[in-house]
Amino acid sequence: MSTENMGTGSQFIALNDASMGGPAGEPAVLEAIHLRKYYPVRQFNPLGQRNMVHAVEDTSLALYPGRALALVGESGSGKTTVARMLARLYEPTAGTIMFRGEPVKGARRADLKGYRRHVQLVFQDPYSSLNPVHNVRYHLSRPLRLHSHAHTHAQETEQILALLNRVSLSPAEQFIQKYPHQLSGGQRQRVAIARALAVHPEVLLADEPVSMLDVSIRLDILNLLLRLKDEEQLALLFITHDIASARYFAENTLVMYAGQVVEGGPSEEVISRPRHPYTQLLISAAPDPDRLGPDGNVVAPLAGGRSSLPARGEIPSLINPPGGCRFHPRCPHAMPVCSQHFPKRTELGGGHWTHCFLYGDGGTDLAVNSLGNAQEPGGDKPRPYISKM
Ligand code: SF4
Repeated sequence: MSTENMGTGSQFIALNDASMGGPAGEPAVLEAIHLRKYYPVRQFNPLGQRNMVHAVEDTSLALYPGRALALVGESGSGKTTVARMLARLYEPTAGTIMFRGEPVKGARRADLKGYRRHVQLVFQDPYSSLNPVHNVRYHLSRPLRLHSHAHTHAQETEQILALLNRVSLSPAEQFIQKYPHQLSGGQRQRVAIARALAVHPEVLLADEPVSMLDVSIRLDILNLLLRLKDEEQLALLFITHDIASARYFAENTLVMYAGQVVEGGPSEEVISRPRHPYTQLLISAAPDPDRLGPDGNVVAPLAGGRSSLPARGEIPSLINPPGGCRFHPRCPHAMPVCSQHFPKRTELGGGHWTHCFLYGDGGTDLAVNSLGNAQEPGGDKPRPYISKM
């Protein structure tokens, strides 16, 4: 694996700007700064060292009140690992998580309890996230009791009914005694969202919240999350493999491939004018009636001047990932330098940016030597973390 993947600073990201989720100058509620996650596996390499899964490389993001950030990518791209690090279910291998400008520390139960009072995770699978032997009242009363939001049975009942109404499960009195098997998938996910809301969080991490639901009810759940985001000024991380839903749902989008963040910016800009070949691949694979001919085949090019890409190859193994830009084995535009270095971030204007040698200082001003290595004065120096706060 190239040392560039180990973090020479090529993915260092200026946080707190519009490209990361919030208007300039507005402080982030939750920030991830240069997060990495490596998992040891049972296999050993020829040197006798334990192999590692390089699940997330040098990823930074920021979440702002009343705004949603979509983290988009295929299965295995590291999106869920990022969410679980932010929820402190996984300990980052490196990097910092900041809540309201303060580093989040401590693995003690009390520390975690305090943190989870503010940051809640909604899981992908509503069928396994609820305990089948307990009813709705039990699931919603536990967080209320744990975080001391209800002191009497009457208060508890009142708050549970209010929570059920907030997630549009009404009449609430009919749902409070129901068991998970008596609920549809959409109703279960609403209960899971109500459970997350019970502690009055400031941040909601929604990990593919609609991917296991029927298509017919996905929009209802997305609209529910949108309404809660606006009404309660929740900072939302919306994890999805469906880039089309990111456009609908989130003000800003980050695209992740094989553990590396490759493109980001305002959702409309990223999705209508994708620049990174992987983002173009994701969009060309998404159904879009405007680009289909009468026979159902794609006939129109993507906006932004590039034609859609043939879907070739699969996401690589993260035990021994490709060096440099991890997309290079699949990329039709790959150059020798792409397998050697991870490109710097290139600003494309309007808060839109990418990591690709096809653009700006990601590549065009790099001289490439006879070995295909990028040569740039100071080019290996990390881009500093810039805070506008
Ligand atoms: Fe393709 Fe190279 Fe850009 Fe990666 S850096 S997306 S391999 S052109």
